[in-house]
Parts: sequence; C-alpha cells; structure tokens
Amino acid sequence: MAEPAHPYLTACPVGCKAGLTPTALVLPEGALQRCAECGQLLSRIGEDAYWQSMRQFDQREFNRPSPRELERRFKVARRRLDTISALLNKPPASLRVLDVGCSRGNFLAAGAKLGFYMEGVEPAAGIAAAARADGLKVHTGMLADAGFPAASFDAVTLFEVIEHLKEPLPLLRECHRVLKPGGLLVLSTGNTASWTVVAMQERWDYFHIAKDGGHISFYNPRSVALLAARAGFAAGRIETSRVKFHEKGEIARWRYVAGKLAAELLNLPARLTGRGHDMLAFLRRA
Ligand SMILES: [Zn+2]
Repeated sequence: MAEPAHPYLTACPVGCKAGLTPTALVLPEGALQRCAECGQLLSRIGEDAYWQSMRQFDQREFNRPSPRELERRFKVARRRLDTISALLNKPPASLRVLDVGCSRGNFLAAGAKLGFYMEGVEPAAGIAAAARADGLKVHTGMLADAGFPAASFDAVTLFEVIEHLKEPLPLLRECHRVLKPGGLLVLSTGNTASWTVVAMQERWDYFHIAKDGGHISFYNPRSVALLAARAGFAAGRIETSRVKFHEKGEIARWRYVAGKLAAELLNLPARLTGRGHDMLAFLRRA
C-alpha cells in the first residue's frame, strides 16, 4: 500500500505541540510517526481506511467470546473491580461504575454479579442493543451524548478505547466531569515501551489496523501520564503486564511454544519494570 497523501492523524493525540518524526517501524500504510515530546506513536493510515476498519465493531458476530474466554475475562474484571473498591476504600454495593465503550457488556455483567452498580455507553448501536437485551443498562452513543449529570460516578472505565481516537482529550475531560471528586478513571491500552515491541518491532499485531481494527495511536507510560494530566487527573498508578515474542501462526509451533515459555518467565520482571505490553492506569480525579 502506498503512503496516503493525507494521514488521518496529523498531530500528537496527547495534545503535544512538538513535531513528528518517522520511526523505523514500517507498516503497510507507512512508517509510524513519533511525537518528540511524549514518544506517542501515530499511524499514517488515511481517514477512509480508518473508518472502514472501525465498522467491524458493530457487526452481529463481533466479540462473542467462548465460555473459556468469558471465564478468563471475568477473572480480569474481578481483579480490576477489586482494585477499584480497594483504592476507593468502599464496598462494591456503594459504588457506581460507568464502562465507556462497553461493547456487549461483559465487564458490566461481571461488576453486577459482584454487587457493583454498573452502567455502560457504547457507540455501536447493534452491540449496545444486544447488551440491553441481556438486561444490562447500556446507552447507545458517545459518552457526551448520554448527558450524565456532573459527579455521578465513583469510577469510569475506558478499556482499549484511547488507541482508536484522534483526539482523546475531550473524552477524558468528559470522564473527569461525570466522576465524583476523588473518583477513579481506569484505562487500559497497549504499551510501546514494552519488551514486546523491542522484540517484535512492527510485527506486533497491535500495530496492524487489519488485525486489531481501528488502532491508530500508540501509548507509553509517559504519554498516558501526560494525557491524564492534561485532562485534569492527578498522577495515578500505571501497571503493565505480559510480554510476547511471536504472534500465533507466525512461526513453527514448537518455536511459538518455546517463545511463549520464555515470555511467561519474563512476565514478573516486565511487571516490575513497566515493560509489559498491556498497560492499566488508575487515575484520580482531584
Ligand atoms: Zn506527544
């Protein structure tokens, strides 16, 4: 694919004024650009190709996990909700949690099961309707469309959303507005300052819009902290986890398994040094 003459992203999504320089990470649509101030990496995909790749999120078959995958997600959700409850020092029954970009509502269902009050917002109309049909409280549209009163939630979660956005700051400021003072914004995204990127470079699926639809903006712990500060959040806790060296099917199975074992051994050191490729940030509303 030739480089688009007009990439969708022309400035750092974190809100920096610094220039962008091409990196050695070359994707089909061109080399990723790096913000000189925060290290954010930006895709050179054109606007049409971006919107086309975002359409998958409203397809009837999108995001239907197997029972085993559902069980795994429930454990992840429980760990995150336990941390929210611990950081806010309140029991689940007294906490109102809003999940922005809730898809089919797996996280909402997990929270409800654990005794939290859960609400969701999802722009993909078909998926939002499917979540409501499962008995979940889900609003179709963007967060701003829901028109929540100020200070109406104890925690807002934003899982795997910001890497899709050209301008995440208005969304984070709206999260800030609907949060109670002292409330938490919990967000997850990939980490480009990870050993996974050191090892895999541009082979990491996360960079590929054809494999991970709509990914255009790639964060590191520093750029997440800057974004949070610019949206009015106090410095929070940023955790990273997991490392990998190969994508499944990329190489012979025995090499994949060997690489996976090595990656398991590096999980703990990656966690301790902030070099895992999954990033989870707990940000406090002042
Ligand atoms: Zn930047």
